[in-house]
Amino acid sequence: MNTQESRLTIHKLLKEYWGFDSFRPFQEEIILQVMAGKDALALMPTGGGKSLCYQVPALAADGLCLVISPLIALMKDQVQNLRKKNITAYSIYAGMSRKEVIHTFKTVIHSNCKFLYISPERLESSLFKEFLPGLNVKLVAVDEAHCISQWGYDFRPPYLRIASIREELPGVPVLALTASATPGVQEDICTKLGFKDHPVFRQSFERSNLSYSVFKVDSKINKILEILNKVPGSSIVYCKSRKRAREISELLRLQQVAADHYHAGLSQDDRSRKQEDWIHNKTRVIVCTNAFGMGIDKPDVRSVIHADAPDCLESYYQEAGRAGRDGKTAYAVLLHDERDMVELGSLTERRFPPIEEIRKVYQSVANYLQVPAGGGASQYYDFDIADFLRKFKLNSYLVIYSLKALEQEDWLSFNEQVFFPSTIQFTTGKDYLHAFEKDQPGSVPLVKTLLRIYEGIFDQPTFISEAVIANMIKKSITETRDQLIILQRAGVIDYRPKKENAQLQFLRSRVRTEELSINRVAYQQRKEKAGERTRQMIQYMNEKHQCRSLFIGAYFGDLALKACGICDHCLRLKAAEMTAPEFEQLSHRILDRIREEPLPARDLVSMLGGIKKEKAWKVIEFLQAENKVDIDPGGWVRRK
Ligand code: ADP
Ligand code: MG
Repeated sequence: MNTQESRLTIHKLLKEYWGFDSFRPFQEEIILQVMAGKDALALMPTGGGKSLCYQVPALAADGLCLVISPLIALMKDQVQNLRKKNITAYSIYAGMSRKEVIHTFKTVIHSNCKFLYISPERLESSLFKEFLPGLNVKLVAVDEAHCISQWGYDFRPPYLRIASIREELPGVPVLALTASATPGVQEDICTKLGFKDHPVFRQSFERSNLSYSVFKVDSKINKILEILNKVPGSSIVYCKSRKRAREISELLRLQQVAADHYHAGLSQDDRSRKQEDWIHNKTRVIVCTNAFGMGIDKPDVRSVIHADAPDCLESYYQEAGRAGRDGKTAYAVLLHDERDMVELGSLTERRFPPIEEIRKVYQSVANYLQVPAGGGASQYYDFDIADFLRKFKLNSYLVIYSLKALEQEDWLSFNEQVFFPSTIQFTTGKDYLHAFEKDQPGSVPLVKTLLRIYEGIFDQPTFISEAVIANMIKKSITETRDQLIILQRAGVIDYRPKKENAQLQFLRSRVRTEELSINRVAYQQRKEKAGERTRQMIQYMNEKHQCRSLFIGAYFGDLALKACGICDHCLRLKAAEMTAPEFEQLSHRILDRIREEPLPARDLVSMLGGIKKEKAWKVIEFLQAENKVDIDPGGWVRRK
C-alpha cells in the first residue's frame, strides 16, 4: 500500500468501526508511521485517543496486535469495547490460572483474533515464550510506556522485558504510548525499546479551555464549597486518603451538595454503582482518591478540585485534565495549606525507606503468606494487607513503600486492585444435564437462564453476574449463589465466585534476608528523581506569576505553548492591566508598608506614590485572596 491508499483505508476504518469523520492531531501521522513498519512514541494526554493509534493500523493489516498494558481494569474495558464492534480480542493478566492462560493462547491462535492484551508480568512466563511464535504478531503496542523508565514516576520492571520480545519478533514495529513523560523519560523510552531515531509524536500539552489555579487556604472545605457554588456542573474532588474522601463527601452532603465518595477499598459493586451515578449526573461531586478516573470518559466535568496535592505534575496534569473534555470552560483548582507543603517536602524520605527496613518487610510478608524458603516463585497469593498489618504490627506506609521498592527490584508484584468477576463453565455434557434436570426440576430455571444469557458457557469459563441471574429467576442474590453452589457440588458446573482480594506474586523464590539483593545505586537514583518531581510540584504550587499552562508545558518539554490567558496568574494580570514584574513589585511594596503594623486601606493606597489607585486596590484584593493580608471590618490591612 502506498501512503495515499493507506490514508483512504484508515479513514474508511475510522468511519466504519468508530463512526468518526476525522482523526485528531497526530493520530493519522502515527498510524501511517506504524503502517510503514516504523517504531513510534506517541505522547497524548489521557483521553486524547491513543488506543486508535494501534487499533486502526492493526485492523488495516492481517495478523495480531499484541498490546502490553499494566492496568487490568482498562484492559478488560478495551476488550469489551472491541468485541462490541465485532472485533475479536482477548486478554491475559495477573491471577489467571495456567489452564486459563493456555486456553486463551490456543483460542487466539485458532481464531481470527486481532488484539491480545497482556499484562507485562506475563511476558516472562515460559507459556508466553512457547506460544509467541504461533501468534502471528504484526504490531506491538506498549501502553503506559513511561513504566519502562527507571526515572519515570511509575517504573515497572516487567516492562524492561519488552525489549527482549523485540528479538523474537524481528521487523515488527513497536508503538509506545503514554500520556505524560518528561523529555528525559521520553529519551529513556526510545532507548530502552531500541528505537533508532527519535520517532516522538507529541500532541500539544495545551488545554486552552482549562483554567488552572492554586489557592493556599485555611479551610479547604469552605473553599471547595465556594468553588462548587461558583462553578455549576459535574465535579471531581481528589483527596490523598480514603478516610479524607469519605469525610469531605460527608461534609459536602451536609451542605446539600449531591456528593459521594470513591476509593479502591470499596467493593467492585459499590464502585461501579457510584461511578455510574456520577456519570449519569445523579451524583454531582465524586470525592475520591487517585483510584478514580482510569478509563472514564465523561466530557462535561466542569471542575477538578484537588483537596490535597499529588506528588508530581505527571499525576496532577492527568487528573486535572479530566475536566472540560467537551472543550467548554472548566476549572482545575489545587488547594493547599501550610502542612501540605511540609508533608510534600518529607514525602520522598517516607517513600524510600531504609533498605534494612525493606528486608524486614520482605521477611514478614513471606512468613505471613507461609512461603517456604526456596519456594514461591511466580506464585500468586491473596494478600490481605490490613490483616497483615494487624498481625505484624507494622507501619502501613513502611509496608506499602517497601512493597513498591521490592516490586521495582523485581522481587514481587503487588496489585491492590485486582477484581475477578465470577465465572461459570459447564462441566457436563448435554445428556447428563437433561438427566440432572429431570432429577432436580427445581434447578431448571437457573440452568435455562445460564444457557440462554451466556453464550459459550459450555466451552470456556464465562464471566457471569449473580445479580443479573437473580433478577431473571426472580430469586435473591443469596439464594442464587446457594443454587449455583448446589450445581457445583452436583458436578454440573465449575463455579468460581468473584474475588476482590489484592494479589501478591512472588517473582523469584523466597530467599534469606541477607540474600535479598537491592541495587543501592539505582534505589538512590530513583529516590533523587522522585525528590526532584516533588520539588517541581511544590514549585508549581508556590509559583507566583508564571502562566500555569506554560509551567506545565515546560515540565513536559512542550515549549511551544502560549500564555493561556485564563489561569489564576494570567487573569490576575489581565484584571490589573499589569505585567508580571510590575505586579510582583507592587505587592512587595504593599507588604513592606504593613510589615510592622496594619494600616487603613485608604492610607496604604495613597502612600504608594506614582501608582494608579485602581491598580493598588487590585493588588491588595489579590493579596487578600491569596491569604497574605487580612482586611478587618474597619478597613485596616494587616499581614497574615
Ligand atoms: P487515551 O488512551 O489516550 O486516554 P482513548 O484511546 O481511550 O484515549 O480515547 C478517548 C476517547 O476519545 C474515546 O472515547 C475515543 O473513542 C475518542 N476518540 C479517539 N479518537 C477520536 C477521533 N479521531 N474522533 C473522535 N473521538 C475520538
Ligand atoms: Mg489509553
